[in-house]
Amino acid sequence: MTPASRSPVIAADPDGIRRAAQHLRDGGLAALPTETVYGLGARADRDASVAAIYRAKGRPSFNPLIVHVGGLQQAEGLAEFDDRARALAAAFWPGPLTMVLPLREAAGLASAVTAGLPTVALRCPAHPVMRAVLEVAGVPIAAPSANRSGGVSPTTAQHVAASLGAAVDLILDAGPCTAGVESTIVALRPDGWQILRPGPITEAHIVAVLGTPSLATSGHGIEAPGQLASHYAPGKPVRLAALTAEPDEFWIGFGSVAGHASLSAGGDLDEAASRLYALLHEAAAAPQPRIAVAPIPELGVGSAINDRLRRAAA
Ligand code: AMP
Ligand code: MG
Repeated sequence: MTPASRSPVIAADPDGIRRAAQHLRDGGLAALPTETVYGLGARADRDASVAAIYRAKGRPSFNPLIVHVGGLQQAEGLAEFDDRARALAAAFWPGPLTMVLPLREAAGLASAVTAGLPTVALRCPAHPVMRAVLEVAGVPIAAPSANRSGGVSPTTAQHVAASLGAAVDLILDAGPCTAGVESTIVALRPDGWQILRPGPITEAHIVAVLGTPSLATSGHGIEAPGQLASHYAPGKPVRLAALTAEPDEFWIGFGSVAGHASLSAGGDLDEAASRLYALLHEAAAAPQPRIAVAPIPELGVGSAINDRLRRAAA
């Protein structure tokens, strides 16, 4: 065997998809491409498989996982859907929206998936490779971002290999992720709804479907650790809204601020989101000891970009 043939990175062709799905069915870990970031997948209905995710990431056990499903029917077996949940699923699934819903008693999920909460986070992803894996595997797949806990999320198979290395048996490579920031998380509560993590589906998108404003953020404690102040950390100090840079800073640009590398020279926020983590990885590997980032407008997916940058800087 040559060293290259032992690489855990395999192409996301039909054979690779079958291998990944079989490996998951057998209870193993596989890194999978989604439209947001690469996920570290395992069977959500097996304690040992879910425990392996937490171990590989070094993730604290109080931080519950998102469960990925192939469609609405599978989702309704896991959580209680009301009219609001069905309307959001009809509007945004498959896609980058995660809903936090009451867990069904008969769901059969490993209890570590929900960190013992009475709710479960569900998403039906849009990436054709992830959809094919879910269909072939036929079981719900828990999949947090495929990186060491607290670090910068992976948007390529190479990012996964660099962060997790031998901790993952198999990485299904479908090229760079398109959306580039993690899914929006919305909690549907009896008294209203609330965004727990901003993402590609914006608050305005959700208001347009539900017709009601979100709950004030006060009154509910932090329950999505993605909301913790420090996350997505590149391992160097990060300075935000930088219109100029110091000689010891790697400067990430946007629009008219060129920087050493730009999120989007044309000022396109979708392009910026898709390139965000790749540039944070590049900045982390650059010789400069510090990172500066140009201002990003707080519009559309810009809210999600700024949310991740604030946590990277914290
Ligand atoms: P990640 O898998 O790294 O993208 O993070 C998943 C996010 O979903 C974390 O911020 C979790 O705290 C959040 N999450 C998962 N399940 C729940 C739940 N039942 N209630 C609230 N947040 C959740
Ligand atoms: Mg993550």
